[in-house]
Amino acid sequence: MSRVLFINGGSEGHINPTIGIVQELVSRGEEVVYFCIEAFRERMEQAGAKVRTFDGQQFIKAFVSGGRNYPLERVNGLLLTADIVIPSVLEQIRDEHFEYIIHDSMFGCGRLIAQILELPAISSCTSFAQTEAAFNEMVDQSIVNVPVETVTPIKDKFQSLTVMIKEKYGVEIRSPYEVFCNPAPLTIVYTTREFQPDGQAFAQTYKFVGPSIGSRAIQEPFDLAELKGKNPIYISLGTVFNRAIDFYKLCFEALGNTDHLIVMSIGDKTQISELGEIPSNIIVKNYVPQTEVLQYTKLFITHGGMNSAHEGLYYGVPLIVIPQSADQPVIAGQVAKLGASLILQMQNLTANQVREAVDHVLNHSSFEKAARSLSESFRKSGGSHQAVDEIFEFTKGE
Ligand code: UDP
Repeated sequence: MSRVLFINGGSEGHINPTIGIVQELVSRGEEVVYFCIEAFRERMEQAGAKVRTFDGQQFIKAFVSGGRNYPLERVNGLLLTADIVIPSVLEQIRDEHFEYIIHDSMFGCGRLIAQILELPAISSCTSFAQTEAAFNEMVDQSIVNVPVETVTPIKDKFQSLTVMIKEKYGVEIRSPYEVFCNPAPLTIVYTTREFQPDGQAFAQTYKFVGPSIGSRAIQEPFDLAELKGKNPIYISLGTVFNRAIDFYKLCFEALGNTDHLIVMSIGDKTQISELGEIPSNIIVKNYVPQTEVLQYTKLFITHGGMNSAHEGLYYGVPLIVIPQSADQPVIAGQVAKLGASLILQMQNLTANQVREAVDHVLNHSSFEKAARSLSESFRKSGGSHQAVDEIFEFTKGE
């Protein structure tokens, strides 16, 4: 039995794929001490971890205070979380011993904590992986036409933050890539190499184990019996970029009072009462057990978060992707390229476009066929069992 330190952050998308990994590690005798924000305590305890938390509000505040307009600002935001996470983690594990660390590839300053504790490290990558070259290219592109007066203070801030963190914690930060992607000697990526853009560009230290889709504790009761035999259309913009009242109302206009049953998850930033009158064929909730709902669904209208895309395709559901931000345009492009989705743009979206896209996907069986074929390849890929095999293989050599 080994003691494992697991460092994660505060968003569903980065937490959910790790549930299966923790369950598998625990079932094979490992003891997992898991750091995240309080909101995910119950879920991770149910998975079998010993959960410890850091202050979620301060964590988000620090991250956002770095700025959100450019990737380099998000890098600074991640560095600003160091003072929230690192002292709290070190204090809570004082005098404890761990054999290895698994850390999120973005949140939680895992690479720095691995350095401080001198532990063999494994990165848990819940989105597409990025090579350093692709990351740098993306950063360069993002500032191509941005005035130097805007870019210079962002770069200066990166320098001053890295110096401060080095002095405080005795760690090296060599590049924005290290901060944003937290590279490690082993990276578990929760997708397949085929689905990963430019999958062949990644070294064998990247293990593409496929989606890790486990059952989880749900926060809101949902009567799945209502969906039986009705093949609903499911609509969700995920848990982050989901404050979109106009969009939800537009969906009412496009799909209300039709023969379709619609399930819509609007997230916790919008009150259901803000949406006005709800057509009788539409069930609106703040949160649904998504992986259960998808098992009944004929079409998923999604923002294209990595987890949502994986989960929909895992259950063979074709998608209409309306990317909002972050990595979603890339994910949207990849699913469309493989024939399992249409892409719509949020800007200037009309009810008519939504209706037409729904009809198009439902009337052309090629979308469902492509989704089923991806489902098959995902199911064959090994998932959390394979991930833990890779982790054990790696730690054996350390
Ligand atoms: N989710 C859920 N119920 C909801 C909305 C979202 O269970 O009503 C889960 C979903 O299954 C997925 C995660 O929240 O695992 C969202 O992650 P994703 O990467 O798709 O998007 P993000 O929320 O990070 O933008």
